[in-house]
Amino acid sequence: MSIDFTALAVPGVRGLHPYQPGKPIEELQRELGLDSIVKLASNENPLGPSPRAVAAARAALDEIHRYPDDNAHRLRHKLAARLGVAPGSLLFGNGSSDVIDMVARSFLGPGRNAVYAEHSFAMYAIYTRAAGAEGRVAPALPADHPAMPLGHELDALRAAIDADTRVLFIANPNNPTGTWLGRAALHDFLRAVPPEVVVLLDEAYTEYVEAPDFPDGLAWLGEFPNLIVTRTFSKIHGLAGLRVGYGVAGPELAALVARVRHPFNVNSTALAAAEAALDDAEHVARSVALNRAGLRQLEAGLAALGLRVLPSVGNFLCVDLGRPAGPVFDGLLRRGVIVRPVANYGLPNHLRISVGTAEENDRCLAALAEVLA
Ligand SMILES: *Cc1c(COP(=O)(O)O)cnc(C)c1O
Repeated sequence: MSIDFTALAVPGVRGLHPYQPGKPIEELQRELGLDSIVKLASNENPLGPSPRAVAAARAALDEIHRYPDDNAHRLRHKLAARLGVAPGSLLFGNGSSDVIDMVARSFLGPGRNAVYAEHSFAMYAIYTRAAGAEGRVAPALPADHPAMPLGHELDALRAAIDADTRVLFIANPNNPTGTWLGRAALHDFLRAVPPEVVVLLDEAYTEYVEAPDFPDGLAWLGEFPNLIVTRTFSKIHGLAGLRVGYGVAGPELAALVARVRHPFNVNSTALAAAEAALDDAEHVARSVALNRAGLRQLEAGLAALGLRVLPSVGNFLCVDLGRPAGPVFDGLLRRGVIVRPVANYGLPNHLRISVGTAEENDRCLAALAEVLA
């Protein structure tokens, strides 16, 4: 007898499609037997982690028979001092995705909803619906918007809020588009959000951003007790494989959300590596510089191929191919270049390309030129 597990699942899970990660390098090696593969699919740091973080992680391995410090004491105090916030304002997660999930599980459920923008990070919808709540999607700015095509449309986000809205997710800059919100516009928006709606401002890429009017959400925590800012060690710090991220909020909100935290959710190797990564400002600066040059290189190369690129301040670009992206993605794979299709984000003609080293970017551009020819 076969069992229909879909029918048995809670309603929110029945229609869910799992998150689609970037294709792992080993998987493509297995499939095509290629030996040289460039992966520009998951917004990872092409410089890798700081050597100091790796050394700290190695040293921590000697103690893995012990449970990690559940309070993340050392990382908490170092990071709090770095960010200029109270230690009690921090909430650590197994990646910042974990923090996003904790917020969803704390405030969402049947009869409630969360608001987020079209073409924004896929996990908002997944955690919202898994919690049994409704996801309300606010339309993005039009593709021909002169300043920020497909960016977050703040008026639409505000209009989507109703009496049952408990959480609003905003990514700044947004993934997969790379688009961003300026300081004044986002501040005005936060003032207009009802204070009973928890605003999760996802700043996974903030360390990369060099746009002059780009806001620092932490500056607003005092003004908006309903605000929680999330950040991660996965992107600029190159620690995606260890899974450590954090939220910053007023101590009351942080403590409330921590009620649903899994015990020991951040492992001891990750805690040690994250702490050491904070000490390597030079690695961060080199990562920012490499990204700046790589963004320019990719923007110029894609423009030379006649392609339109969405404005981006992150470590990735979203390019409009003007035709279905699937076959182009496959052609790139056959040439050993992994990028990210974003049809599941409602962008069937776009590909997202993470910024790599100069050589990786060149290889991606050359492969793309061949595939498009
Ligand atoms: C990568 C990313 C994250 C989180 O990644 P973690 O590895 O879970 O910290 C969160 N939000 C956005 C928008 C991202 O792109």
